[in-house]
Amino acid sequence: MRMILVGPPGAGKGTQAARLVDTYQIPHISTGDMLRAAVNEGTELGKCADGYMQRGELVPDSLVIAMVIERIGKADCASGFMLDGFPRTRPQAEALDQALQDANVALDAVVLISVPDEFIVKRITGRRCDPDTGEIYHLEFRPPPDDIQDRVIQRKDDTEEACLARLAKYHSETAPIIPFYRDQGILREVDGNAAPTDVTARITTALQ
Ligand code: ADP
Ligand code: ADP
Repeated sequence: MRMILVGPPGAGKGTQAARLVDTYQIPHISTGDMLRAAVNEGTELGKCADGYMQRGELVPDSLVIAMVIERIGKADCASGFMLDGFPRTRPQAEALDQALQDANVALDAVVLISVPDEFIVKRITGRRCDPDTGEIYHLEFRPPPDDIQDRVIQRKDDTEEACLARLAKYHSETAPIIPFYRDQGILREVDGNAAPTDVTARITTALQ
C-alpha cells in the first residue's frame, strides 16, 4: 500500500498514521518529523529549514522533495509507505508522481482528513508530544498520563500565530493538490471531526 495522508495542520494525520501503520505494516514517513530531526541534529538541511518552520512557512520544495525521494527509495519502502505531510504543494505532488513512475509503481490512495478551520487553532495550541516515544497528546482531548506529564513538550511552531500562518499556507499551497489526486481517481475524503477511533474506522473503510 502506497498512500498519502493529507489535511490541514492539526487534522490528525500523525495521530491516524500511528494507528494505521500496524494494520498496513508500512513505514510512516512524516516530513515534519524528518525536518525536526534535521533541525535537532544541526544538519545543513536542518539549519536551512529551521526559520521557515518556526514562522509556519513551507520549507522550499527542492529540499523537501530531495529528502522524500531519498527516503522512499530505501528498502523498507519497497512494498509501501504512508506519507504524512508530503506533498504539500503542486510541484511536490508532480515530483512524487514522476519518481514513482520512474520506479514503475503507483500510489494506491490519498486520504484527505477534513477538519473545519474553526477547530484547528485549539487542536494545535493544545498539542503536546512525548519526546521519548513520539506519542501525540492534547491537553484537553487526549491528556498525557500523570507519569509523563513532566516530560511532554510543545512544538515551537504550535503557537496561534504560526498555526494561522500554516493554515493560510494549507489553503493557498496544499489544497490545490486535492483536485490533482481527485482527477486520478485515488482521492478518499474522510471527515476528521470525530473521536480518533471513529476517524480510524472511517479511513480503513475508505481504503477498502
Ligand atoms: P497533524 O499531524 O495533522 O498536524 P496531529 O495528529 O498531531 O495532527 O493532531 C493534532 C492535535 O489534535 C493533537 O494534540 C492530537 O492529540 C489532537 N487530535 C488528533 N486527532 C483528534 C481527534 N480526532 N479529536 C480531537 N483531537 C484530536
Ligand atoms: P502539522 O503537524 O502541523 O501538519 P508538520 O509536522 O507536518 O505540521 O510540519 C511542520 C513544518 O515542517 C511545516 O509547517 C513546514 O514548515 C515543514 N514541512 C513539513 N512538511 C513539509 C513539506 N512537505 N513541504 C514544505 N515544508 C514542510
